[in-house]
Amino acid sequence: MRFANYDGRLTLLDADGLGVDVHRASGAALPWSVPEAYERWSEVLAWARSYSGAGDIVLDEALIGPPSPAPGQMLAVGINYATHAEEAGFPIPEVPMIFPKTAPATAGPFEEIGISTDTVDWEIELAVVIGKPTRSVTVEDAWDHVAGLTVSQDLSERTIQARPQAAPQFSLGKSLPKFGPTGPYLVTLDEVGDPDNLELTCLINGEEVQRGNTSDFIFSVPQVIAYLSWATTLRPGDVILTGTPSGIGATRTPPRFLRIGDVLESRIEGLGAMRHQIVADRAAAEEPQLAGQR
Ligand code: ZN
Repeated sequence: MRFANYDGRLTLLDADGLGVDVHRASGAALPWSVPEAYERWSEVLAWARSYSGAGDIVLDEALIGPPSPAPGQMLAVGINYATHAEEAGFPIPEVPMIFPKTAPATAGPFEEIGISTDTVDWEIELAVVIGKPTRSVTVEDAWDHVAGLTVSQDLSERTIQARPQAAPQFSLGKSLPKFGPTGPYLVTLDEVGDPDNLELTCLINGEEVQRGNTSDFIFSVPQVIAYLSWATTLRPGDVILTGTPSGIGATRTPPRFLRIGDVLESRIEGLGAMRHQIVADRAAAEEPQLAGQR
């Protein structure tokens, strides 16, 4: 099954891609709010499995929001493909390398994304949306806690990401406004096929810059969930970005970064494609010079 966050309302897609408003079609038994729906995900699934009506909403891309519009947490795995570890000059990590992407990074699949610096990089990633309260789950049971999968970008401002030199912190450089877009759909596992064999492709202005496959994960989705749920608590609607394959811009010779006017496309086999126009971030000012000021 495929769901969309359509104009803020949980929407089921029928076989022809037409939308069914879940709240209306369920006779108001289920919530219209997408975050509330994740709290009652097993009920949503049971209803959707038994629903046989056709959709009546022709989806307008501009109204499709992120599958989880207000995640309590958006966590990302830093190095999870051997090809990316190699290009970035990192050894293969012994546990998943985790950082948060904070709330302003949330964005939909077809929004304009503003940049204000010249070192913004692309990272296509498979994203997981959690569908149950999850603490101390085993690798074996982890898939059972997943609501579905979607496409994501872990956009990264590399200059900020590498700061400060004394102890670089990834989170801020990956949490700029709209730097964590997801979508266009939440696809349930029964429709995904083999989640350990999905091809990911990232294109800039039609030119392929990344191609990878989830079969190359260092840590599988269940391993990442088991590790995170050992360390902390995951909640319905939480989003996990699972790492990017090789092909980022920063490690190229010469380095390449996103420019205003670029069109960034992110595709994952069976899940769909996002498309983002890169524009100037009009709200951005010059970086403040902190030295000598208090
Ligand atoms: Zn990443």
